Amino acid sequence: MGRVVAVANQKGGVAKTTTVASLGAAFVVRGLRVLLVDLDPQSSLTFSLGIDPEVGEFSVSDVIRGEVGLTTARLRTSEGMDLVPSTIDLLAAEAMLLPAPQREFVLRRGLEEVLSTYDVVLLDCSPSLGLLTLNALAAADEVLVPLQCEMLSHRGVGQLLDTVADVHRLLNPRLRVRGLLPTMYDKRSTHARAVLGDVKRRYRVPVLNPIPRSVKFAEAPSVGTSIIAADPGSSGARAYFRIADGLLRAWRFGGREVAPGRVSRGVTQLRTSAATDAGGSAGVGGY
Ligand code: ADP
Ligand code: MG
Repeated sequence: MGRVVAVANQKGGVAKTTTVASLGAAFVVRGLRVLLVDLDPQSSLTFSLGIDPEVGEFSVSDVIRGEVGLTTARLRTSEGMDLVPSTIDLLAAEAMLLPAPQREFVLRRGLEEVLSTYDVVLLDCSPSLGLLTLNALAAADEVLVPLQCEMLSHRGVGQLLDTVADVHRLLNPRLRVRGLLPTMYDKRSTHARAVLGDVKRRYRVPVLNPIPRSVKFAEAPSVGTSIIAADPGSSGARAYFRIADGLLRAWRFGGREVAPGRVSRGVTQLRTSAATDAGGSAGVGGY
């Protein structure tokens, strides 16, 4: 059964889409069958993988509306991942969901049809905590949260982790927090290092090894591939390979992850899962 990972943060520009494209491509290189789902009406993932959202016949909106199944809507990208593309229509499809019964489970039902044919499914969330992101969290086994190591840019992370805790309690008891993924990290910057330290102490969830800042990430989408195909030897590509390999190890042998708990108002109710070593949940680095 495919492992479903939601890549979420309601802040824009933190490298959610870059993470989905790069990890997806790294998993393909490792021999996995990978499905990516673009859940952002801005279609950045679709564009960045060389697909024009307007030319495809179907998109994730049609799946959300129940008009076609995922097997009909998916496309094959040049790097070998399958992709369910998005178009600007997704805004209307999300609005249509509002009065629908079981509206948080539409994506999960859609995925059921294909889960047995993939090893990993990555969900690229939009920069909001709206119904599409709730659908992603309700469908996921785990959530990965990219964030930038700048003072103001992790302010929404507590709110996101609270939402994850609520989804875990009310909609999806399987959901786990895989961890925070610092992106665009400049290790020479004292400020970035200080913020990373603060992030590790503050949230009590695993913090994965940072992805370095590099202009190569901005260049890759212009050739319609991830950095993994565009420049596989670059420091950015190697960083994503490390994260992908760490996730694979964690899935096979058990790794650090935490059961969601509310983090706001200074009350931390996070408890470590069975797979977690008891003392090791506070800001531990990983892969
Ligand atoms: P999000 O999906 O969270 O809005 P994106 O993945 O679209 O974020 O990334 C926002 C911008 O940052 C893009 O232009 C992307 O190329 C760039 N970017 C992503 N990761 C890095 C990185 N490690 N170093 C430099 N730029 C990056
Ligand atoms: Mg994005």
